[in-house]
Formats: sequence, C-alpha cells, structure tokens
Amino acid sequence: TSVADDLRALVRTIPDFPKPGIQFRDITTLMLDRSGLSRAVDALADTVDGPIDLVAAIEARGFAIGGALAVKLGAGLLLIRKDGKLPGKTIAEDYALEYGTDRLAMHVDACTPDARVLVVDDLLATGGTALAAVRLVRRAGGNVVGARFLIDLPELGGGDALVAAGVDARSLLAYE
Ligand code: IMP
Repeated sequence: TSVADDLRALVRTIPDFPKPGIQFRDITTLMLDRSGLSRAVDALADTVDGPIDLVAAIEARGFAIGGALAVKLGAGLLLIRKDGKLPGKTIAEDYALEYGTDRLAMHVDACTPDARVLVVDDLLATGGTALAAVRLVRRAGGNVVGARFLIDLPELGGGDALVAAGVDARSLLAYE
C-alpha cells in the first residue's frame, strides 16, 4: 500500500462535528500512531524543493506538524497564533469564517527579510486561514515559497485560492 493509503487509514472522520452536516477529519488518531506523524512529516518533506529558513505553523494542530517538519527540514519555527496570545509586538490579519471573522497574529520581528518561509497547517478548506498566514509573512518581509497540509478539501477552493495568490500549495490527502 502507498504511504497516502496508510495515512488515510489513520485519519478518523467524525460526523456532525462541530455542527450537523460537517464531516470533521480528525488527525489526532494519526498522531497517536507510533509512526503516523513521522511518516506524514517525511512525506511532506519530500514535497519541498530547496532550503527553507522558517516553517510558519498555524495554531494549533499546525504546530504539531509544522514543528516536526521544521526539525526535519533544518528550519526555524515561526508560530502563527490566534490574536492576543503572543507576548511581543505583533501584526494581525483578519479572515472570514462561515459566520463572522477571526484574527491571526505573528511577532512583527519573527521573520528576517527575504527568509524562505513554508506555511504549514493540518487541513486546507476554504483557504481563509492559510491566506491570512501568507499575508502576515509577506507583510513581515518573508518570501512564502509554499504551503503544505496533511489534508485538502478541494471542493472548498482553498488550493485554487492559494495558487491565485502565487503560493505553491500541496497536500498529502484529498477528501471530497
Ligand atoms: P479554512 O480557513 O476554511 O481553510 O479552514 C482551515 C482551518 O480550519 C484549519 O486551521 C483547520 O485546522 C480547520 N479545519 C477545518 N475543517 C477541519 C476538519 O475537518 N478537520 C480538522 N481541521 C479543520
């Protein structure tokens, strides 16, 4: 079996979470597996060309995958957090949720000019979250060389939105 098939078998689907009609793709089961996280991270690293200075990981599941990927790539780890959590001077970007907006932040001095930055999260849906992270890194002077996800939900258009923003977006698994 392929790595993708093995990883797919480790993702659990929870119906009607967080609300009726949503099929939540739960990667906690993949992370509980002895080799699940390391195999996922190895497969993500294989999709990366060229040196990465910083992995920009998005709170919270993105921290687990992005932290491991940063170690594998020999990159630093830049934390992109929900607004109000970081202690230093921050910049922030709003993004749309189905109802209302949310806000992501990063330390304004977290990124050296022209650093090669890879944005990482567990799952890509509409792309609103990842695009907010891309805007933050670009405002801070970083060069976003790609975005990586364990899971993509292509019907929600996030991959297309990232490509339209000039970001090389790739995922290990797609779910309809
Ligand atoms: P987007 O902003 O619409 O692309 O949504 C992506 C964000 O929502 C990511 O930070 C994901 O962690 C989270 N998310 C949305 N749907 C799921 C899911 O089915 N499983 C896990 N996370 C999800």
